[in-house]
Amino acid sequence: MFLEQNRKDPRPAKGCIEVIAGCMFSGKTEELIRRLKRAKIARLRVEIFKPSLEQRYDENNIVSHDSNAILSTPVPSSPNILLLSHQADVIGIDEAQFFDDQLPYVCETLAAQGTRVIIAGLDMDYLGKPFGPMPHLLAIADYITKVHAICMHCGDLATHSFRHAVDDSLILLGEKDSYIPLCRACYARQHAEIPIRKEQAD
Ligand code: ZN
Repeated sequence: MFLEQNRKDPRPAKGCIEVIAGCMFSGKTEELIRRLKRAKIARLRVEIFKPSLEQRYDENNIVSHDSNAILSTPVPSSPNILLLSHQADVIGIDEAQFFDDQLPYVCETLAAQGTRVIIAGLDMDYLGKPFGPMPHLLAIADYITKVHAICMHCGDLATHSFRHAVDDSLILLGEKDSYIPLCRACYARQHAEIPIRKEQAD
C-alpha cells in the first residue's frame, strides 16, 4: 500500500506526481479516492478532475465500481485543470488515459508550484497498447503504483482489459458486459482465438 510522507516540515510543500495505473476493475479509482480522502482528513485543499467525456454514472462525481464516490469537476481538456486548480494543495485526476497530450505538462506545472498531483488511469487499451498520455505520465512520475484485477479465467493477477464487444471505438465505456480483466497468458490465449483485428495488423 502507498504510504504518504508525514510532513512536519514547516517549509513550503514540494510538489510531486503520483500515478496509479492498471487494467479495468483493478481498483485504480478506489485507490485515488482513498488518498484524496486522507488528504481531506489532513485538512488539505483537494480538487478532483476528470475528462468530461467520461460520464458513465454521474456527471459531477468520480464514481468507482463500488460506489465509493467523491465529488469531481468534469473538464473538456487538460489546460482547464490549471485554470481551475488555484489554492489546491492536492489535485486528483481520474481516467487520465482519456485526456489530451498536454496533461503531462499540466501535471509538471502543478508539481512545480508545490501541488501534490495524484493521477489514476488505464495503462493499456483493450489491444494491450499504451493508452493516451499514460506512458508519458508514468515516465515523469515521482511515485508509481500498479494495481491488478483478478483474471476472470484463471484467478491469477490480471493486467489486461479484454473486450468482447463488437464496437471498435477506444472510448467505448462499457461495464462488465463489454470487458473482462485477464492475466497476460489468458489474454494472449483469447486474442489467438479471435481473428486478427485491423488495428493489430498495422
Ligand atoms: Zn488468467
